[in-house]
This record gives sequence, C-alpha cells and structure tokens, in this order.
Amino acid sequence: MMAPRAQAGAYEAKLPDDLHTAKDLCALVPCADVFPAASSFSPRMGQPPYVEAYGTAEAGKKKLLGYVMLSTDITDTPAYSGKPVVTLIGMDVTGHFTGIKVLKHSEPILLLGIPESALLKFNQQYVGKSVTDKIEVGQTRADEGVLGVDAISGATVTVIAQNQVLMTSGAAVARQVGIMAPVVREAAHYAVTGQHYSWEQLVKEGALQKVQVKNEQLGLEHSDTPFIELWFGDLNHPDIGRSLLGDNSWNNLHSQLKPHEHALFVIRTAGKESFKGSGFVRGGIYDRVQVKQGGDSFTFRDLDYLNLYGIAADGAPAYTESAIFVIRSKGFSASYPWKLSFLGNRIDRATGSKSFTSFDTAYWMPASYLEGGRPQIEEAAAPWVRVWKSKALEITLFALLLVAVSVVYAFREKLTRLSTHKNKWPVNAFKYSAWALSIGFVGFGAMAQPSITQVLTWFHALLFQWTWSLFLTDPFIFLFWIFIIVTVFLFGRGLFCGWMCPFGSLSEAMYKLGGLIGLKRFQGHLPRVWHDRLKWVKYGIFFGLLTISVFSMGLAEMLAEVEPFKTTFLVGISHRAWPYGLFVCTLLGLSLFIERPYCKYICPLGASLAMPSTFRWFGLRRKQDCNSCKACAVGCGSLAIDAAGRIDHRECLHCLDCMVLYTDVKACPPLAKERKRRERDGLEITAIGRDGYFIPIHPVSVDTVNTVSTKQGPDPRMPTDPVAPPHKAGARGLRWLWLELRDHLWPWSAEGWASQKALQIAGLSLALAVSLAWLLAAMGRLSSAAIIGWWFGWSVYEVLIRLSGRRYVKDGPWWQANYRYASVMDMLSYVGFKNLLIGAVLFLTLKTLGLLLV
Ligand code: SF4
Ligand code: SF4
Repeated sequence: MMAPRAQAGAYEAKLPDDLHTAKDLCALVPCADVFPAASSFSPRMGQPPYVEAYGTAEAGKKKLLGYVMLSTDITDTPAYSGKPVVTLIGMDVTGHFTGIKVLKHSEPILLLGIPESALLKFNQQYVGKSVTDKIEVGQTRADEGVLGVDAISGATVTVIAQNQVLMTSGAAVARQVGIMAPVVREAAHYAVTGQHYSWEQLVKEGALQKVQVKNEQLGLEHSDTPFIELWFGDLNHPDIGRSLLGDNSWNNLHSQLKPHEHALFVIRTAGKESFKGSGFVRGGIYDRVQVKQGGDSFTFRDLDYLNLYGIAADGAPAYTESAIFVIRSKGFSASYPWKLSFLGNRIDRATGSKSFTSFDTAYWMPASYLEGGRPQIEEAAAPWVRVWKSKALEITLFALLLVAVSVVYAFREKLTRLSTHKNKWPVNAFKYSAWALSIGFVGFGAMAQPSITQVLTWFHALLFQWTWSLFLTDPFIFLFWIFIIVTVFLFGRGLFCGWMCPFGSLSEAMYKLGGLIGLKRFQGHLPRVWHDRLKWVKYGIFFGLLTISVFSMGLAEMLAEVEPFKTTFLVGISHRAWPYGLFVCTLLGLSLFIERPYCKYICPLGASLAMPSTFRWFGLRRKQDCNSCKACAVGCGSLAIDAAGRIDHRECLHCLDCMVLYTDVKACPPLAKERKRRERDGLEITAIGRDGYFIPIHPVSVDTVNTVSTKQGPDPRMPTDPVAPPHKAGARGLRWLWLELRDHLWPWSAEGWASQKALQIAGLSLALAVSLAWLLAAMGRLSSAAIIGWWFGWSVYEVLIRLSGRRYVKDGPWWQANYRYASVMDMLSYVGFKNLLIGAVLFLTLKTLGLLLV
C-alpha cells in the first residue's frame, strides 16, 4: 500500500525536465512505489514507452515481474483543469495493476476542496484489477461485464479522465507485451480513378494536412515566422501517391513496400527547426514525429526512412526538409483516422521549466478515396460528454428547476398581489421550496454551489483562452451560470442570491429557524451606519481576489477560502481542518441572529454579481410616497432600502416583502389611509394600479400625476436622481449612436476640464500611455499580464475622471435613455464592466492575429 503522504504536494509539482525523454525513467521517478515487488527496472523500451520490472535475480537471471509506464508517454487526456494528470502505473505480467501514483496534477479542486488523498483512494481501487476488465466509474453492472469504481464526489470529471488514462495506458502496454491481442485494423481498400491531382486539389479534398506550431505555443518569443510548418499525407493510395511523386517514383516506392506496409511523406515549408530532430543519429529514432492511431503509436527508425526526391504535383510549395516514413505494423490502416504528432519542448515563461508537448494533427483519408467510403468508428466520448450522459436525469431536473424559478419570478406580481403583509404564503411557498431544493438537491446533492473562483476563471478565460470543454465539464455549474448571467441582467443578483444560492438559502433558513425556536427577541440588524460601512467589505474582497488572480491564480484560489462553500457542501465540515469548520459554524451560528451576515458583508461572489445588477433591466416597483413612508424599509431584511425609499439593487435579495406591501391596502400606509377615506366617504374601492395607487375613480391626466409626484421630494422609483445630459437631448439615429459611442469611449468633459484640470491632464497622459501599451501588445512586445495591469490602472483612473465630469450612468436597458446621477459604486460597476468587454474584444483580436505573448 502506498502511504497517502507519497502523493501529497502533487499539485503543479515540478517534474524533471527530461522526464519524457530520459532512457532511465526509474532513476527520475519512484517506480518501486507502483511496483513494490520489483528490485530493478529496465531502461525505457517499446512504443509507446514502458519499462520492465524485475524481481531478484535467480541463477544470475532476472525474473520479469511486470511493467511500469508513465501515463503521459501514452496519452495526454486532459482532466478538469485542461491539463493531464501525470501518473505512474505498475502492471504485472498478467495485466493486473500493482500500483498507481500521481506525480503531478493541476486540479484546483484537489488542492482546495477535496483532499488529494481522495484521488489516492480512487486509484487504489484499481490495484488487483486487470487491464482486460471493463472498468468504469459508477455502478458495477455484472450483466454487461462492467466493473464499477467509486467516483470522488465533486470531482467526477477528474476521475472519469483518470479512468480513461489508466485503461488506455495499461492497454497500450498490454498489447505490446502480448497480454492483450494487438489491434488489427482491416486494411484499406482504395477507390482508384487513375487521375492526377494538383497540390491545391489534394489540399481541398483533405488528402494533405498542415501542421503549424508557433513560437508562442512553445513559450518562445513571438516571431512572424512559425517555429515549424509541415505538410504531410498518405502515399500508399495510388492516386495520391502518383500525383505527389510522379508515376516512376511512386512505382519505385510501391515496389519497396510489403503488402501491409504504409508510406507517408512529410515536408517542412516554414521554420528552421528540423522535424527529423537534431539529436538523430544513424540507428536511432526520429524523436520529433510519430504517428498515432487509436491507442497505438508508431515511431520511425532510420530503416523506416526513405529520401523524398521531389514533389511532382502542380502548385506544390517549396520546402526545406523532407522525408518519406514507412509504418511497418499490421495494426495501422489507412481507412481509419490517424494523427501526425510533432513533439516539442515547451518552456514555461513564468518558471523557465520545460515540459514535453505534442501537437497532433488529424488525418483521415477522404471517403471518395476509399471503396465503400470511410468505416464507421466509435470514438471514446470526451470526459465532459460522458458526464452529461451519465447524469442526464439530474441535469434535466436541475434545468427544469431553474426554468420554473425564472417563470415563477417573472410572474412575481401575481403572487405579491395574492399575498398580504400578514399572509405571505403565496410568495413564500415558492421561495421556501426553492430554498429547500437549492440546499438539498443543488448544494448537498449535486454540489453545484457557484463560487468566486469560477468568476475568476471566466474572467481569465475571456481574456486569455476560451475553452468550452473547460466549462462544460461541470454541467450543473454550467447551467447555473447561464441562469445567473441571464437573471442578473434581467432582474439583478437578487433572484440567484435570494432564491437559489445554496449557502444563501441555508443562511436565511437558519435565521427563520432562529425565529421559530424562540430566538426572535435576540434577532436584529446591525445599526444602519455600521451596515452602510461594512457592506463595502465584500467589494474589497472581490477586487482583492481579482487583482491577485492576475498575478497568481493559485494564490487567488487559495484566498477564495473566504467562501465557506467548499467546507459546507463539497467536502463536509467533518472532513476539513477545524479552522474551516469553525468558520462555517460561526457564519451559520451568526445567521440565527442576523439575517445573512455572510451575504451582506463578506461574499465576494455576491459582490461580483451586485456590480452588474446596477444595470438590471427590470427593477422593483416604488411609488412617490415611498420616500416618506418607511414601512418597507423597516421590513427589508437586506437593508436595501434607503432613507429616501430608494432600493439599492446591488443589495436587494428579492425577498419581495416590499412588493407585497406595495399593493397591500391594509398594510401600506398611504393605501390604508386612502382606503379608509374611501370607506368613510362611501366611495368605490378600486384595484391597485401598476403605479402602486388605487386606480382613480375618475381618470386623471398623466401630467397631473407627474406634477403631484415631483413635488414631494426625491423620486424613489430611480435609485439616484435623474440626470439629462444636455448633449444627448433629442439625438436620434446615427447621431444617437455616435454620441453613445463617444460617451463610452471618451470620459473627458468640459465640466471636468473646468473643475479638475490636473486630474484631466493626468488622465490624458495615462490614456496615451495605455494606448501605447496596447500598441506594444499589438506588436507582440508586451505580455498579457502587463497589458492587464495597464488596463486595470487606466480603469481606476477613468472612474475618477468620469466622476469629476460625466457623472451619470444609465438606469435600465442600454438602448433606453434613462440617465441618473452616478454614485462611486455605480461608476465603478459601469467602468469595470465596460472595460472588461472592451479589453476582451481587444485581447481576442490580438490573439486571433497571433500577436499576443501568452
Ligand atoms: S451573497 Fe454569496 S452566499 Fe449570499 S446568496 Fe449571494 S452568492 Fe450566495
Ligand atoms: S424588502 Fe428589501 S430585499 Fe426584499 S425585495 Fe424589497 S428591497 Fe429587496
């Protein structure tokens, strides 16, 4: 048994530079850990490589006990992080696994949420099982011959990928050494027309493929010419071979090949690096290129190499290096897809460490060149596809839950009108059901608590590299984020935070529980003045994490432990060190007395969602009298209603209590007053209109209503006072569009110039510097991190400049023109969000043009 400590610290562990090339693998890694019975090991052998494990020598002869292999020599199946888990695997001569050791992984969940020992336990399940077994993550299904292994809750993608890696690696070696029968693929039957094709025609049909590796992909300085550019293709097919080589050369080549042998060509059309490898010596192996088909790899020795004397096809490009390689295995068939793999050393620009990277380019002979077309093949589905399939029912139920909550909320006014201040059950029945499901099914069941680390990952992915598979690997989180993004822009963060966040729901449920168990008299809010100060803490935490993540994602993820989510839902209090458990217990204990203390003051996720909530499209209703009547504010558990009766949509958690009051003719003071008056005077009690007042008995002109409203102090229907930027008045069509664009891109103004000249001049200089920074980035002379730093600094300055001149933001949808006075937070939210979008567009453009250093 391996001691759990043996794998501690495998997260992003530094591995020897020559791990993938050194002949003596076991001098670099502890092979004995995965093959305890062995006393010595051979050098690397075979293709894909493995080492032999020997017992103690008897009569001077070593006894072969089994094999040890390095997973990344065989497959680079990525796990959750998008990187492979580098694993050392031991297997005896009968194909039974003897030990598995993770040398390096990049799974954040195993660093922070789930202990690494969980992966050790998972791997341990394979010891004693055979590579010939059909092992799958999940239940054993004896009738189908499937042997199940238990997953790690919360790390399904990691273990599904790990299962694929162990079985693929084991099988690749088992086939070579005769434990499993080698794969024999049916030889291709070519459809031959006798036609000669030009280079262009062959490219168009897919009979030729290009490999292009850029300097940046290997961690080298940007260059206009690629590190290497290769073209390759099949030469066995008579039409392709004759077109490329000419009839004589092809006949000559054909006569040298045995029936099952297969020739392909490679030429270099750009770059200085040799694809034959600088270290190549006669009798050696070409270590820069190999061919992969299914689980098999084919490498080339000098005897598998033939000179390519020229390309006869019209329009062929000039080339500076060339080769014909021959695959001599019966396992290869031209009917099936294969890949040409170019192997390079990647240098990590941050650490200077080298790692082995392969660039695979797929090739599949076009169907028209094969008799009967291409054969049907069953490719192993990507891990994320398997996750979606294996949890189809839960995923469907979750999606239905999200749709149901959205629909219920969209019809909230019907529910609030059915409710009264005394009986809120028409609203609460739905809200409490949503809480129960979010805590039980979503939180503890599906472990789908969204987290700030996902926001940071999205932020980085948006700027650096968007990989759909990275986000699709967790279906619940993926669907949850679609729900969050849509509802934040429609209604604000309140629907997610107030109804669907598992921890938020748990926290508020604790508060309700506190009331039920007799703690009501101890329950209350922090004094308003303290609340108004402390609510900014969560924004500080969010900005802190965002800034740190630019420099070190690992550190940011570690600091994101400020979220109690992992301890509560993913790992469980009892499985974590006591400080984490104490933190969760303190928060939940406090929640018995104060409504959602974590949500109000600490949650960086809530803060990140609050900022775009500034621009929600649909707000809650307010009426003019809300500015003097404090009834709603008294009942608002989120303290989101200010002294003027205005709702801060960043803080509102959509409990809907104020909306119930809004139409409650007995509890809303102005309505109760009017109701009583009408009752006293024997007048008709009409329904409550959308404006929150009784529908007038006699129609009143709009002007009259407006005049009445504006007379009575601040208008609580807007979060801040309305503003009418003079230059926007009456603008239509193209002029409107131009002014809109100028407003977003040009923060300076005449007013700002008059009042804060120094600030404006400094801003202008900074803007010039930032433009220069973008220009340098566009020329490939500035790294991504540097440009993010500049952009960040500029954004802070832009906030200051706008506050001194263009101090307004839009309220509601961007295509409308409801401007209002901007608070500092409004401006931060606006500039932050706008510049994130502009930055992402510029980044993506530079990346598409291949100009940004990664
Ligand atoms: S503030 Fe944070 S914990 Fe609270 S409901 Fe929102 S996301 Fe959840
Ligand atoms: S009472 Fe407060 S938290 Fe509830 S909906 Fe109204 S403003 Fe939002």
